[in-house]
Amino acid sequence: KVQHSHTKNASKYVQEVYETVKVRNANESEFHQAVKEVFDSLVPVLVKNPQYMRQAILERIVEPERVISFRVPWVDDNGNVKVNRGFRVQYNSAIGPYKGGIRFHPSVNASIIKFLGFEQIFKNSLTGQPIGGGKGGADFDPKGKSDGEIMRFCQSFMTELSKYIGPDIDVPAGDIGVGAKEIGYLFGQYKKMRGGFEAGVLTGKGIGYGGSLARKEATGYGTVYFVEEMLKDSNQHFKGSTVVVSGSGNVSIYAMEKAIELGAKVVACSDSNGYIYDPNGINLDTVKRLKEVENKRISEYVKDHSNAIYSDQCSGIWSVPCDIALPCATQNEIDEESAKLLVSNGVKAVGEGANMPSSLEAIEVFLQNGVLFAPAKAANAGGVSVSALEMAQNSMRLSWSFEEVDCKLQEIMKNIYRNSKKAAEEYGAPGNLVVGANIAGFVKVADAMIAQGII
Ligand code: GLU
Repeated sequence: KVQHSHTKNASKYVQEVYETVKVRNANESEFHQAVKEVFDSLVPVLVKNPQYMRQAILERIVEPERVISFRVPWVDDNGNVKVNRGFRVQYNSAIGPYKGGIRFHPSVNASIIKFLGFEQIFKNSLTGQPIGGGKGGADFDPKGKSDGEIMRFCQSFMTELSKYIGPDIDVPAGDIGVGAKEIGYLFGQYKKMRGGFEAGVLTGKGIGYGGSLARKEATGYGTVYFVEEMLKDSNQHFKGSTVVVSGSGNVSIYAMEKAIELGAKVVACSDSNGYIYDPNGINLDTVKRLKEVENKRISEYVKDHSNAIYSDQCSGIWSVPCDIALPCATQNEIDEESAKLLVSNGVKAVGEGANMPSSLEAIEVFLQNGVLFAPAKAANAGGVSVSALEMAQNSMRLSWSFEEVDCKLQEIMKNIYRNSKKAAEEYGAPGNLVVGANIAGFVKVADAMIAQGII
């Protein structure tokens, strides 16, 4: 009975803080969703650790330490002046300097950056590396822009951002719309503003100037390592299974590469215009050429592979029957309907390579139907993990081999799986990795916050 009243108190506390979040951050639905997903896992943690309530940890953790929003003016190729909005959310530095990517996409707004930054706190904690949580971006659309336009935009963005970041303060990296090219332009401008070569200020750099081998592959490979670990526990494997991977960016391409290497057949992938289905198995060389070299749409794939089918219905990709689905495109790409479709077509496992690709309702559908579910915070933490390894190499002024980094990445992903699984068992939700990852990520940050006082 005492236990019951503790649970009631904790639930009430969680609900109250969540209501405050909704009022303080009106109309930020993605942010609300990310907070709800974490909070729903925390009641048993609060019952066991009432100091988290006394110390107002939830109220503190949902409030970013700092939000920076700034004007990004630039000149296009026709001499027109354009203005975009830039953001950097420095969310939580309890366990290390703020760390997280920069996203350039027209959908970027305060809600998107805050949900990503909030998730980053727990993801980064799960990696076991000393990195806090942050995120940034701009509502700039790199699609259809010339190299010169992208360079000028990056320079303007960094002219302002450089005031707030540094190798021991805040270390951005890429995300949607920001790859090695953009990181190069951003780094060049940072160096010019600072007047010094501070390699550790950004990660995802080119290999020739402080980047880490295997960083490009890390998120996609990491997702597959994590899912393979999860599958193994119930005697299943990528080997011999049929896989659907949404997206065709950095995460998706290297998730496909590793899945194929492990003996899976990947039959579908997509971009923001539509998806391709190739019953013979996707030819990754063609996808890499189209996306990494020629900057073309995925629809062009069918020109080289006449047996493949293209559809301009993006979400239709989830109607392709598969054993394993790896959503690697963007937030909320799997809604309740798509989740039900996947389940009725016999999906056995879902691994989130993108950030928050499944809606709360979709996650519920997977969990209730016994689908093995690898949540984003845990399953896509490989990218930021190797970013932390890049920071370590920069600090030591040396560089590790591909094998060395890849080996560390595998170890990290296995640890994240083990720790998430253990936390789920410890707190009464065996097998639920959503709960496990949230708890394992949260506890370390909460304890560090308490140790450091009310700041
Ligand atoms: N944008 C990636 C993520 O969502 C990587 C961040 C980083 O490497 O700092 O985790």
